[in-house]
Amino acid sequence: MDNYVRNVGGVPPYGYSWNTGVLEINKWERNILLLVFKYALNDNLSPHKISQLLNEYKLNSSRKGKMWTYKTVSYLFAPKRIEFYSGYADNKRGNWEPIITTEMAAELIRKKIVTTSGKRPHLHKYLLTGIGRTICGYCGGNITSVLDKTKHGVNRYYYCSTRSTYGINHCSESKTFPMARIDEIILNTIDAQIRNITEIKKWTSVFYKKRDKQIKLKLDILDKKINTSLKDTTNAKSSSSSIKSRNKISDLIAQKEKLVDEKLDYYNFAQLTGSQIERLSLNKQKELVIACIEHIQLFNDKIIIDFPFVIDNAGRSSITKAY
Ligand SMILES: [Zn+2]
Repeated sequence: MDNYVRNVGGVPPYGYSWNTGVLEINKWERNILLLVFKYALNDNLSPHKISQLLNEYKLNSSRKGKMWTYKTVSYLFAPKRIEFYSGYADNKRGNWEPIITTEMAAELIRKKIVTTSGKRPHLHKYLLTGIGRTICGYCGGNITSVLDKTKHGVNRYYYCSTRSTYGINHCSESKTFPMARIDEIILNTIDAQIRNITEIKKWTSVFYKKRDKQIKLKLDILDKKINTSLKDTTNAKSSSSSIKSRNKISDLIAQKEKLVDEKLDYYNFAQLTGSQIERLSLNKQKELVIACIEHIQLFNDKIIIDFPFVIDNAGRSSITKAY
């Protein structure tokens, strides 16, 4: 099979061992790996916290009994590693048994894994990758980067990771997106918002007032319904109708809690600061993108940027930039 990837040898990745030239799952390490991914996906724990727990449970990081560190845990979240654990390398099926499903791999890559310190486990070398913000405008797939070396120099591109997932043309619409131009647009756009912060705060507070008013109306309606259901519970003639109205109450209370959460959701404008963005280090720039932008959709000719605040007096929070 030509597009079958074979492992070239060397130290087997964590989770595997060699068995007469064949890469075999190391069951002990696989269980630890699955625990690490579960901690990140379900419990949203940081690599630092995960390493602490693993050491506490004496689940060593290697056959030599080494302790886990922030770095060794973070390394497991590298996209290449996650791809490998799902049984693929360079978009091709490998000849080793996967430890995680491709769905789980996609979820791990898609979901930003937030650490308690605000750092990401794997900050890439490129502005828009590894921040959980950038997606392909055509299919919603994760955006990854590619480097094209020619005799005229090096060109860097973003591209849709599902464009040719595992040999199948999943996202035929998307071409490669020129990185330098896109990064420039994103940084300029953030810069423009920072310069306009006074107006933005004003427009956003108008939006919050309207939103909170609507939420208050909904909350009033819910409260009335809850009161009615409470009366129903007290007046219930049979235990089944009493249970029914109690279930209804807990459902209504859940709806209420959700609305209250929404009402408390205000953007922290202290994050929207900075000057001379283009001079900041890449990691600082990435932190700004994470703080100021909700989503970035890349298309072949335009970028759509969604902000967590209002950016004009028409109440819009999204901007389209052609390139
Ligand atoms: Zn795509």
